[in-house]
Amino acid sequence: MPSALVCGAGGFIGTRMVEKLKEQGFWVRGVDLKYPEFSDTVADDFVIGDLREQIICRQVVDRKFDEVYQFAADMGGAGFVFVGDNDADIMHNSGSINLNVLDACAKRNVKRIFYSSSACIYPLYNQLDPDNPNCAEDSAYPANPDSDYGWEKLFSERLYLAYHRNYGMEVRIARYHNIFGPFGSWNDGREKSPAAMCRKIAMAKDGGEMEIWGDGKQTRSFLYVDECVEGTQILTRSNWTGPVNIGSDEMVSIDQLADIVMDIAGKKLTKVHIEGPLGVRGRNSDNRLIEKELGWRPSKSLREGLEKTYAWIEEQVRKSAL
Ligand code: NAD
Repeated sequence: MPSALVCGAGGFIGTRMVEKLKEQGFWVRGVDLKYPEFSDTVADDFVIGDLREQIICRQVVDRKFDEVYQFAADMGGAGFVFVGDNDADIMHNSGSINLNVLDACAKRNVKRIFYSSSACIYPLYNQLDPDNPNCAEDSAYPANPDSDYGWEKLFSERLYLAYHRNYGMEVRIARYHNIFGPFGSWNDGREKSPAAMCRKIAMAKDGGEMEIWGDGKQTRSFLYVDECVEGTQILTRSNWTGPVNIGSDEMVSIDQLADIVMDIAGKKLTKVHIEGPLGVRGRNSDNRLIEKELGWRPSKSLREGLEKTYAWIEEQVRKSAL
């Protein structure tokens, strides 16, 4: 039976990856500081442990897993990573996790390891025009990410690539672009814009108002979590070392995102633009490399993913009001 280790198995993407691996017949160990918040884990073994600790990493990597997926990070949406207050923790915590997990895998002769990097590594200077951002993989250098979260991801990309070069590890690196879906943070300060929009609209009365950070003209693309898991496995099992974008190239403005969710909810609200943490002005996934090298592209529209996400968040809002 093939075996896999999922680091960050209590988180949003990790929970889905564990489910997928179980469907595929893997023996799965998950590790996280916490169990999944919104469902029961289906991992064969779930270790509650702190991956910043070298000893915990050595204990959980106790065999030669066929696949290791590294999702654990100190992580959140704009309200967490762009406010400046959490930078030291983000860099220390995520950096320590990557240093220790990767080294434990190298010592146990684990060959194939996936690392979840981020579109936040791309330089600010290429993302100033909301209609024309450049996120091609080879545009990452000269580096100038707009957040320390992005700098840590870039450092860790280099760390994984160095282990590939020096220890022959088959590292696979994806730069994720805004992954969303049900069963993710929606009201704990770490939620991202699609979940925040769904929550605000689900809570508002038809004809009322909703607040939007910034002028609403900033652009982004969003990838549904099931597609992210699919693309991640195709990359991990391929011969392409990466880094490669995993995202959607259906770019929308934040105002357009709000309009789609309002339409799904059947509500018409007045948008009130307020100051808030924003990140770059424009960002879109450039999918040319992944299509060329792996023949993969996402197949679901943003609207399809938002319909599922809205239904789930509306249910959470209803339950929390009881
Ligand atoms: P998440 O926050 O839901 O999951 C991360 C998990 O890591 C959490 O369950 C957390 O408890 C765990 N963790 C944190 N510190 C830990 C520690 N010291 N020891 C053990 N576990 C620890 O995030 P996610 O959305 O599932 O993202 C997964 C990965 O993908 C992260 O590395 C993130 O940076 C990256 N990524 C995500 C997105 C996105 O839009 N969701 C975009 C770009 C990159």
